Amino acid sequence: MERAPLIRKTAHDLRVPPHLADYAAECRTFSWDAARQALQGLPGGGLNIAFEAVDRHAAGALREHIALRFVSRSGPALELSYAELARQTNRFANVLQTLGVGRGDRLFVLAGRLPELYVAVLGALKNGTVVTPMFSAFGPEPIATRINIGAGQVLVTTDVLYRKKIKAMREQMPTLRHVLLVAEDGGSTDDPGTLDLGALLRAASDAFSTVETQADDPALLHFTSGTTGTPKGAIHVHGAVVTHHATGRYALDLHADDRFWCTADPGWVTGTSYGIIAPLLHGVTSLIDREEFDAERWYRLLETERISVWYTAPTAIRMLMKAGPELARQHRFPELRFVASVGEPLNPEAVWWGKEVLGLPIHDNWWQTETGGIMIANTPAFDIKPGSMGRPLPGIEACIVEHLEAEGEPPRVRVLEQPDVEGELALKAGWPSMFRGYLNNEARYRKCFADGWYLTGDLARVDADGYYWFVGRADDVIKSAGHLIGPFEVESALMEHPAVAEAGVIGKPDPVVGEVVKAFVSLKDGFTLDEALRLDILGHARKRLGAAVAPKEIAFLPVLPRTRSGKIMRRLLKARELGLPEGDTSTLEGGA
Ligand code: AMP
Repeated sequence: MERAPLIRKTAHDLRVPPHLADYAAECRTFSWDAARQALQGLPGGGLNIAFEAVDRHAAGALREHIALRFVSRSGPALELSYAELARQTNRFANVLQTLGVGRGDRLFVLAGRLPELYVAVLGALKNGTVVTPMFSAFGPEPIATRINIGAGQVLVTTDVLYRKKIKAMREQMPTLRHVLLVAEDGGSTDDPGTLDLGALLRAASDAFSTVETQADDPALLHFTSGTTGTPKGAIHVHGAVVTHHATGRYALDLHADDRFWCTADPGWVTGTSYGIIAPLLHGVTSLIDREEFDAERWYRLLETERISVWYTAPTAIRMLMKAGPELARQHRFPELRFVASVGEPLNPEAVWWGKEVLGLPIHDNWWQTETGGIMIANTPAFDIKPGSMGRPLPGIEACIVEHLEAEGEPPRVRVLEQPDVEGELALKAGWPSMFRGYLNNEARYRKCFADGWYLTGDLARVDADGYYWFVGRADDVIKSAGHLIGPFEVESALMEHPAVAEAGVIGKPDPVVGEVVKAFVSLKDGFTLDEALRLDILGHARKRLGAAVAPKEIAFLPVLPRTRSGKIMRRLLKARELGLPEGDTSTLEGGA
């Protein structure tokens, strides 16, 4: 297939008329107020994400339509209609009421892709309780850190995860009042200090009147990482539902008869905004696969589950590419009509691979925890420039800025009007799903804004046709398999090992997962480096941080490069690792 710089859309690509057909006209006429009218609102005038996602349909024509379809290797599929999901989420909201957990209280969820997780998230939102999903592959330390920063009162998890990751740390999470356990694979839930969620749900009423939340009330607290310091809790409000709905229309082109599969785990923001909320808002049937990645299984699911819209990630696509085209050729995807991807740069080869193997190009889109929803996208009607993230959606104003030297606050920026100039990607503040703060960290929040622009921390450029191209991160955070990892969190865990004197952590480029976490460590006096110690330090990090966050590689240096002010120079470690120019080393302690 010829690899032209532009992939033009064919009639095959557009066999379902897309919601966003005329980009220029839609951008001109769009308003967030009008977008809000597509939703129902609470009877008393408030706005609630779960009401819009579930109850609105449960009371209408889609009541018996399948909302969520869970599949796994063990046992038959489990399906929940919109009406059943409404009843189950009502039960969960009633459980919270019985426990005295109410509006504004904080609930954390740590589980695999179990039905109870979806019920808990949506039920808590109905109750006005603020939800924080956590990734089930986190180790005890990232979990405890987040629960403590968020002052979590309730945790929903499984008996297995509780014993493995929570029990030993429970004393160190003083705000945690209730732990509600799901019996995974029929396990026991009789740990002292925990409650059996199944029993509580069975005893609860399935009638509940959604709490009168308002658009500005907090709904979700999503943790994200920065270069330094502890993870940041980004606060999102119920009003974000307007963006979830609009972007589900524009960027994912969801229609109610779609069978949708978002492969992101609900422990991360994509798995919440687009794995739970947006598809339900559009009344589609969502597939949820409880198993881990397996190329043959994924192709089979795409085919047999008759998926029409697929939202996945570059790492997954690269793993499918690695599995070879023969596997794909054993399957047909006649129902598949739109494929999108997010989370990391999508290489042009991957876009083309989609066209060759799935019969459709992959549509890259861009957003981040703080934006709450998709901001820049390749949508069905756009011609694709492989390698570009696409164009800002209607209602979103983006630009590239440079920072102006300014004394103190507030920071100042200048918009770079010329195309193809690299700078920081910025968005005009004020879209409905914009985060409303970092929990307990107003100063850090304020630093994200300048002259009415939200500064994303990503470097990018925009071409003369208005297509955005990702260049890199402006900070040191690591993206591994689509997951954002803060080097500081990893370094802190390494430093707890008795032999470690100092630690510096970088993302090392990897052809499949984007970056792998690599640690550089120097040892305390009296410790001798040998294989046993290396394995011990790696094992320690894995136990503390969990597989998703722990370093995959570790190297030892007699001393790590530091600035004169004492900061580990991660950039220098990275440049040396990759054999790149070391850049400005004038601040290096002891000279370059
Ligand atoms: P998170 O907050 O974990 O969703 O991570 C957001 C970050 O992932 C962004 O700031 C980017 O650095 C990166 N990212 C997300 N989508 C894309 C994309 N389409 N291309 C390149 N990087 C992306």
